[in-house]
Amino acid sequence: MAGFQGKSVLVLGGSRGIGAAIVRRFAAEGAAVTFTYAGSREAAERLAAETGSTAVATDSADRDAVIARVRDSGPLDVLVVNAGVAMMGDPLELEADAVDRMIRINVAAPYHAAVEAARRMPEGGRIVVIGSNVGDHVGFPGIAAYALTKSAVQGLVRGLARDFGPRSITVNAVQPGPVDTDMNPADGPLKDIVYGQMAIKRHGQPDEIAGMVAWLAGPEASFVTGAMHTIDGGFGA
Ligand code: NDP
Repeated sequence: MAGFQGKSVLVLGGSRGIGAAIVRRFAAEGAAVTFTYAGSREAAERLAAETGSTAVATDSADRDAVIARVRDSGPLDVLVVNAGVAMMGDPLELEADAVDRMIRINVAAPYHAAVEAARRMPEGGRIVVIGSNVGDHVGFPGIAAYALTKSAVQGLVRGLARDFGPRSITVNAVQPGPVDTDMNPADGPLKDIVYGQMAIKRHGQPDEIAGMVAWLAGPEASFVTGAMHTIDGGFGA
């Protein structure tokens, strides 16, 4: 596979889970991939060595650092914003500062990164943000703040699609349901809550999400923009 040969790809949040699968996919298809990490330096360095990609430390909670990272990455053919955190629990108990930090990582960083990338992105460039199926459907309590951030991604994608469409730059969201990662392990507590609502009662695999991202970034998806692409085993059906 060499579908992305010669393409420059930046993945924000690529050290683990879905982001690591996205890095592997683009690298396997010949792209020059740079990815960011915050806490998982060892995992990031291992992945960089395995895939021939470049790992750089950038905290998505730091707006100016995110903007500088995108700017310093030069003209990008593809930007994928995957970095995200999920805080769950009784909203009456959650720390306000932690909620605000999640909003910076899950909402502010995708917006600023996408705008900065678009400044130098060539015609036909691609921006993909990883949202969540909870942006559409909040199936259980304790995730209001997280759902807020993923619903915000929808507005971001719709709006920027209109702003950058005249340059044939597409802006899309991929909305996974439960995916087997550190955030939501297949043997974790969410299993019993979510499987009852799913048509296909299993966690998705990171590779399945990476496949959809690669399709959106590829030539077949040039007319697809401002859209939410849900991949959730029928959770929201
Ligand atoms: P993981 O927790 O397994 O991995 C998160 C990734 O994001 C890591 O690479 C982590 O890097 C990076 N990251 C987190 N915070 C920051 C930060 N402040 N700065 C830079 N990078 C950061 O999560 P998933 O792979 O499961 O999730 C990836 C995306 O998919 C998220 O946006 C999440 O909301 C979304 N999603 C996940 C679902 C699931 O069931 N797993 C379902 C729906 C959506 P590091 O460790 O280096 O900090």
